[in-house]
Amino acid sequence: MPTAADLDAAIRDVPDFPKPGILFKDITPVLGDAELFKASLELLAETAGGAKIDKVVGIDARGFIFAAGVAQILGAGFVPVRKKGKLPWTTREMAYTLEYGESIVEIHEDAVKPGEKILLVDDLLATGGTAAASIKLLKALDADIVAVSFLIELAGLEGRKALGHSDVNALLTY
Ligand code: AMP
Repeated sequence: MPTAADLDAAIRDVPDFPKPGILFKDITPVLGDAELFKASLELLAETAGGAKIDKVVGIDARGFIFAAGVAQILGAGFVPVRKKGKLPWTTREMAYTLEYGESIVEIHEDAVKPGEKILLVDDLLATGGTAAASIKLLKALDADIVAVSFLIELAGLEGRKALGHSDVNALLTY
C-alpha cells in the first residue's frame, strides 16, 4: 500500500490560489490515482484507532470526498457539515471567523444522535476555524467525538489549538 510519503509526493502546491499569498495544497492528484486515493482513505480510517465509529462527519466540500470513503471502510454512516443554505431539513448552525469576514456551517439536527461516536474528517487543517465550528455543532447535538482527522495540517497556523480536542490527526504536516 502507498505510504504518507507517496501522498506527499503527489500533492501539488499552487502558489497564490485562490488569492495572493496563499499556497494552495491541491489534493486532486491523490484523488485521480486509484492506489493513492484508496491509501488516503485507509490511513484516515486507521486514525479511529480501532474504535467503533457510528458516523463519519465530513466538512464541505473536499472533506466529503474523504469522509464518505472512510465511512465505508469503518462500516459507519456519513454525515455532511455544509455551508449555510444547502441542507434541506431543520438545521443547527454555527458562525465562525474567516481571514476576511465570517462564514456559517450547518448540520441536520437529526443527523447525529446523542452519544453517537464520531470521526470528524476534512482535507486540510489551516486556522482550524471550520473544524472548530463543526466540533461545536457536534457537541451541541451531544455527539461523542472520538477523533478529528485531516489529510493535511498546516502546522504554522496552529489550527490544532483552536480545536480543543485531544485526538487530532494529520497524515501529512507542513
Ligand atoms: P481553516 O478553517 O482555516 O482551518 O481552513 C480549512 C479549510 O479551508 C479546509 O476545508 C481547506 O479545504 C481550506 N484551505 C485552507 N487553506 C488551504 C490551503 N492552503 N490549501 C488548500 N485548502 C485550504
